[in-house]
Amino acid sequence: MSITETDKKYVAGTYARFPVELVSGKGAILKDSSGKEYIDLGSGIAVNIFGVADDEWQKAVTAQLSVLPHTSNLYFTEPCSELAELLCERTGMKKVFFSNSGAEANECAIKTARKFAFDKYGDESHSTIITLKNSFHGRTITTLKATGQDVFHTNFGPFPDGFVYAEANNLDDIKKYADGGNCIAVMMELVQGEGGVCKLDGDYVKAVAEYVREKDMLLIIDEVQTGNGRTGELYAYMHYGIEPDIVSTAKGLGGGLPIGATMLGERVENVLSSGSHGSTFGGNPVCCAGACNIIKRIDDKLLSEVKEKSAYIISELEGAKGVKSVSGLGLMLGVETEKPAKEIVNTCIEKGVLVLTAKTKVRLLPSLNIDWDDLKKGVQILKEVIAE
Ligand SMILES: *Cc1c(COP(=O)(O)O)cnc(C)c1O
Repeated sequence: MSITETDKKYVAGTYARFPVELVSGKGAILKDSSGKEYIDLGSGIAVNIFGVADDEWQKAVTAQLSVLPHTSNLYFTEPCSELAELLCERTGMKKVFFSNSGAEANECAIKTARKFAFDKYGDESHSTIITLKNSFHGRTITTLKATGQDVFHTNFGPFPDGFVYAEANNLDDIKKYADGGNCIAVMMELVQGEGGVCKLDGDYVKAVAEYVREKDMLLIIDEVQTGNGRTGELYAYMHYGIEPDIVSTAKGLGGGLPIGATMLGERVENVLSSGSHGSTFGGNPVCCAGACNIIKRIDDKLLSEVKEKSAYIISELEGAKGVKSVSGLGLMLGVETEKPAKEIVNTCIEKGVLVLTAKTKVRLLPSLNIDWDDLKKGVQILKEVIAE
């Protein structure tokens, strides 16, 4: 049987995969089982920050793989402690909890907020978290409920209580819920990725941060997709001049290995005490060694490259034939097109370019260090396909 046939027979049918069998790659160039090459403008959904099989990352990962691939959280290991230190030094956050995915990083954020409120009030009277309509926070039962889209709230009930959904860019809507009394936190993405690459207004985000502080609530920023250099800052909140209480991240952090991180600010640094949360694989030495390499290399030079490449893509696509609008921040961009996005993705595959969708848009999430030549070639092909 072919890879495709075996997959269709034995892998749970949760993914509508495109007809591509990927077998290898280097940087932003991927190869399929027939030897055809693709320019990758999706980087495994914002994961392969430095492309596929990046040399330096591979060296860091394999070095750790050969000395201590796994232990458990009963013992101390260097990669885990070093990564936590790096993240705290670069963000000003105080402590980090490590897990294995974005959903888990958000679960930890939600648990931390609830425990913060429990410690304060001595009971569960205050437990509601305000999230935004059109958000996406993950696929576990609780993060599905945290996701502010009705389509995610079916099939798997009963769902946990404790979430309400406010309209994005509307502070009054947040106030309406918060004035009700039992709200403990606002949780949001600064660029709604799965929701269609919609960037929140700067004034709104600042006002929410101030309001939340006034109310002694917590501000949780979901940087699972926007984090780790993706938007042109190490974390997207740094564009907004705010200080979140909790920041969750995953996707790009491991550069291709599964890792989630929940960063805890001053107000919540000691909320999670011994025994209150845990994960068998969380802080895995190999994943953390890879992540340390990634974080160290997200420097000012790389970030300004992200901004330059972003400006290039926007200038090529904005106003181009067949393009209605371009949204997003840094190398996280959404392109609203006249033709259906799905059709564009399929034609791009035929022409050797991999792009993604988000709602009705074509979504671009190239690796941050993609060669200019590959980027230009990929964008020109996309532009032609959109214009056809
Ligand atoms: C992808 C994503 C998640 C879920 O991450 P997983 O690693 O798939 O669990 C959560 N929040 C945001 C904003 C995401 O983009």
